[in-house]
Amino acid sequence: MRLGIFGGTFDPIHLGHLILAETVREACRLDQVLFLPARISPLKQQTAPTEARHRLEMVRLAIAGHPAFQVDDLELRRSGPSYTVDTLRHLHAQRPDDELFLMIGADSLADLSRWREPRELLDLAQLVVVNRGDTLPDLTAFEREFQRTTAGVVDVVNMPPVDISATELRARAATGRSIRYRTPRAVEMYILEHRLYRSDPVSMAAPAPE
Ligand code: ATP
Repeated sequence: MRLGIFGGTFDPIHLGHLILAETVREACRLDQVLFLPARISPLKQQTAPTEARHRLEMVRLAIAGHPAFQVDDLELRRSGPSYTVDTLRHLHAQRPDDELFLMIGADSLADLSRWREPRELLDLAQLVVVNRGDTLPDLTAFEREFQRTTAGVVDVVNMPPVDISATELRARAATGRSIRYRTPRAVEMYILEHRLYRSDPVSMAAPAPE
């Protein structure tokens, strides 16, 4: 099976994430896409993410009904920061016959040498670099750095720019502004119901969305 791997903090998951996953699934003819919420992202350690159970549940709600999308809490169950190479090793041991496709943003390709064990990572998975129209992936720099050709190692997939970020959603939710249409309805309702991201978490009941 061709298995796509999509890691992130998903705090919260939003339409940018879902469009990315669906675009790559189609372009790379993936049989399954595994969403992997990170316990703690090694590159985002300065701010504590929202409780894992909420982030996991929001991913579940967001992908419900998509036959090829699944969520796995394996990084949430591991202690410490979530290193991708550990996750790939785990998945490879679990499903040795599957081909792994790791989805990363074009900006992350430039950072790859700062990731843990990047060479081992490249041996375990094919990289799918998603070009969002802002930063073009620098394949020459990659080839120089890793002294290997990108042919057969890196796929580039274009997706339409979707100007939504979890940071923006959190800021909107914090002050009771609308997040409708930026994330699936079920996730929006979950955020309202649990008063996630609110700066005044207990002061009043969640307003019913119109
Ligand atoms: P934050 O705003 O908290 O930094 P985020 O919205 O970037 O979060 P992450 O969970 O960190 O979300 O993202 C996981 C992956 O999804 C990253 O590789 C990121 O580049 C990608 N991603 C995030 N937002 C978008 C978007 N709007 N379009 C395409 N890819 C996105």
